[in-house]
Amino acid sequence: MTDCIFCSIVDGEIPNHSVYEDETVMAFLDANPLARGHTLVIPKSHHERINDLPADLATDLFAAVRDLTERVESAVDASATTVAVNNGELAGQEVPHVHVHIVPRFEGDGGRPIHALIDERPDVDDDELDALAAAIASS
Ligand code: AMP
Ligand code: ZN
Repeated sequence: MTDCIFCSIVDGEIPNHSVYEDETVMAFLDANPLARGHTLVIPKSHHERINDLPADLATDLFAAVRDLTERVESAVDASATTVAVNNGELAGQEVPHVHVHIVPRFEGDGGRPIHALIDERPDVDDDELDALAAAIASS
């Protein structure tokens, strides 16, 4: 048995509430959901972070996320979802196998937007935005 919990799910060694599976991707309900219908979408092969995914697999993963977002919303009658990845331990990733959270959102659920992630925002002026864009574009 692997010591990765999500690889164990892929291998059928740990039970799960599966909602989707194809050759490269699977999805199952989060065991400790933030909302009814909270779903995790994972590549079946082990990669720790988004950055580690082969391009084809990233395409497969996001295609599944797109389809499942619609299906999850419809199943629980949600009109919105937060779709997010904790990408790396410092960002809160607890299971080191890429997974995309699809969290249904409901009126009055008390949840917050992605912009509530960080309280203290940096003060970034236009020159710095230019420099950052150039650094990212050329890296
Ligand atoms: P993250 O903090 O982004 O790494 O999220 C890990 C998620 O995996 C959490 O929301 C957990 O509730 C969920 N989780 C952990 N173990 C299992 C499991 N065996 N089956 C389903 N979900 C799980
Ligand atoms: Zn794994």
